[in-house]
Amino acid sequence: MTTSVNCPVCQTETPWTGNPYRPFCSRRCHIVDLGAWVDGTYRIAGEDVEPESVPADETDRQ
Ligand SMILES: [Zn+2]
Repeated sequence: MTTSVNCPVCQTETPWTGNPYRPFCSRRCHIVDLGAWVDGTYRIAGEDVEPESVPADETDRQ
């Protein structure tokens, strides 16, 4: 039985079984998602605020 999910960050189809970063496709996407929570991207998602204050390379420092 094969189960897969779409990564919430990059939408890549990702195997669920045996994936330590599920539901994400990789550690990178896992960190990106955590970062989004920390800096409030998700909390303001319903307010039509553009996430331009969140440079993508912020997550590369970890
Ligand atoms: Zn991903």
